[in-house]
Amino acid sequence: TEELMLKSEKLSVLGELAAGVAHEIRNPLTSLKGFTKLLSDADDVIRLEYLRIMESELNRINDIVGELMLVAKPQAVSFELTNIRDLIFSVVRLLETQAIMRNIQIWVNIADDIPPVYGVENQLKQLFINLLKNAIESMDSDGEIHIKIGTKNERVTIELKDQGCGIPADRLKTLGEPFYTTKEKGTGLGLMVCFKIIDEHGGAIHFSSVEGQGTRVEIELPTASVHIN
Ligand code: ADP
Ligand code: MG
Repeated sequence: TEELMLKSEKLSVLGELAAGVAHEIRNPLTSLKGFTKLLSDADDVIRLEYLRIMESELNRINDIVGELMLVAKPQAVSFELTNIRDLIFSVVRLLETQAIMRNIQIWVNIADDIPPVYGVENQLKQLFINLLKNAIESMDSDGEIHIKIGTKNERVTIELKDQGCGIPADRLKTLGEPFYTTKEKGTGLGLMVCFKIIDEHGGAIHFSSVEGQGTRVEIELPTASVHIN
């Protein structure tokens, strides 16, 4: 019966997600349909404006589908020993230009002898990209992001602290719900993907935040040694 329960639970989550996706994609589609009609009668100046809006609606659909690919497609995943230090540095390098544009400094502090994490490299990369991106986007300009890597009880710990806008207390509890976004161009899917990845790795994630001061994300991931069987 446990298996059945899980299956029906999965189906209802899937149904909710599908309803949300359908809704979120329908809005830009409706708008695209409208502009397609208007386009033929518009003069050149207006037409350019319409095309600009249409492009941003298409980008929106593209962003939503892009993030969903990660959860929807059952990719062949392979767990392997992953050096979390190298992985985090590659993510920082990837997002460095975005940070520099906002005059944000990223500091990384790593304890000695961090054991490898047992995980799927691409997924762990996606996890930290999504979190670091949120940290950067939470700060308009100027500020620091501190990343700290350590160990605790046979687990690797990663702490990510920003000095951004923070998250309201009532929202902290519901983080990871699809389509919650406070950003004009947000998809509200990044954290849902993060929670899924953490779950699949047998890890843990915890958010704490003070509005107007910043957010701290604490992550725990199993080290390789406890997973060898
Ligand atoms: P998106 O980034 O597309 O909005 P996410 O799922 O990544 O979607 O994040 C959902 C929402 O959670 C964000 O819109 C933002 O309101 C809030 N949030 C997440 N991380 C942070 C953070 N570090 N600082 C402030 N708010 C955050
Ligand atoms: Mg995000």
